[in-house]
Amino acid sequence: MILTDIMKYIESEYNIINSTPCEVCGGDYEAEQLEILLIDNVPFDVCECLCSECGHEKTFEFYAPFLNEKPLKNKKNLN
Ligand SMILES: [Zn+2]
Repeated sequence: MILTDIMKYIESEYNIINSTPCEVCGGDYEAEQLEILLIDNVPFDVCECLCSECGHEKTFEFYAPFLNEKPLKNKKNLN
C-alpha cells in the first residue's frame, strides 16, 4: 500500500471519528493523538479523542494490517 492510500485510510478514520457523537453530550470528538499499537501482533491505529463540548475521552481503534510493513513505535523490535 502506498502512502497516499494510507493517508486516505487515516482520512476515513477521521471521518468516522467526526461522525461519531459524544456518548455523554452528543458533541463532536476531536482527535488528540494517533498512534500505532501492536495487539496480538496485529497493528491497530489507535486514536485518542476528546469531546470538544464536555471533554469526555474516547479511544477509537482501527484495524490497520497494512501498517505491518512500516517501522512501528515499538522500540523493542531490535536485533
Ligand atoms: Zn461530550
